[in-house]
Amino acid sequence: MAAIDSLPPLRDVIATHDLSARKALGQNFLLDLNLTAKIARLAGDLSESDVLEIGPGPGGLTRGLLAEGARRVLAIEKDSRCMPALAEIAAAYPGQLEVINGDALEIDPLSHLTPPIRVAANLPYNVGTELLVRWLTPKTWPPFWQSLTLMFQKEVAERITATPGSKAYGRLAILSQWRADAKIVLHLPPGAFTPPPKVSSAVVHLTALPAPRFEANAGTLNKVVAAAFNQRRKMLRSSLKSLSPDIEDRLIAAGITPTDRAEVVPLEGFCALAREMDKA
Ligand code: SAM
Repeated sequence: MAAIDSLPPLRDVIATHDLSARKALGQNFLLDLNLTAKIARLAGDLSESDVLEIGPGPGGLTRGLLAEGARRVLAIEKDSRCMPALAEIAAAYPGQLEVINGDALEIDPLSHLTPPIRVAANLPYNVGTELLVRWLTPKTWPPFWQSLTLMFQKEVAERITATPGSKAYGRLAILSQWRADAKIVLHLPPGAFTPPPKVSSAVVHLTALPAPRFEANAGTLNKVVAAAFNQRRKMLRSSLKSLSPDIEDRLIAAGITPTDRAEVVPLEGFCALAREMDKA
């Protein structure tokens, strides 16, 4: 297979800089540059975007993004051991790669980026879910990002893209699909990573919608959905009782059968209920 750039193979980079994978940082590296270039292509047309990459590690996905023509990449990496390897990539792509050594959960990257902005990351799964929820719940919409292309544990990817009636359907599906299109674009077996994790993975691509799919107040929708799915086996008239004394009437007004369970109610129904809850 043709090399995607003139930099050394990632196995050599890891050996040269002694980047043995650390479990505490969720380090499962992608070493196949054809695969990282493929993930970069799944992120969309990068030529006119700045890309925010979280957790570049030794730089496999970073190299994929740059080789696929990203205008600029801002990479935030917590592990300082990776800095020399990332500096070599920055030298090969002058002016196109900025690296910040720090915790992505604590850094606001916006002053370093020029819109339009796309996000791409292969992150530890717990950090990935926390950042996804933050990116999906900004104070104003549309958000700073145009798209998110993120690696998750397969089960989490299925929760993000789930439809009503499935076991995976819940808060994450509603949060993701209310204001974005979300789809699984790639499945990866454990063997795609070094070292291989115990679970399978999937890349999810989310595109921000210009406005929410259905009208609703974000806070009210969140409250209703949290209460409904916190007791997902209960009928809605009982799981939502604490939200309003006349919850049955409000459910009916929203077109929802009060004896239904949360998992069968479509996104549109939850938005209608949120609007009913906001009526005096
Ligand atoms: N992107 C690289 C790849 O695909 O080979 C590395 C992926 S590895 C699963 C996750 C990376 O995220 C590691 O390099 C780890 O050090 C980094 N990381 C973990 N927690 C982080 C955080 N809170 N902020 C920034 N980077 C983090």
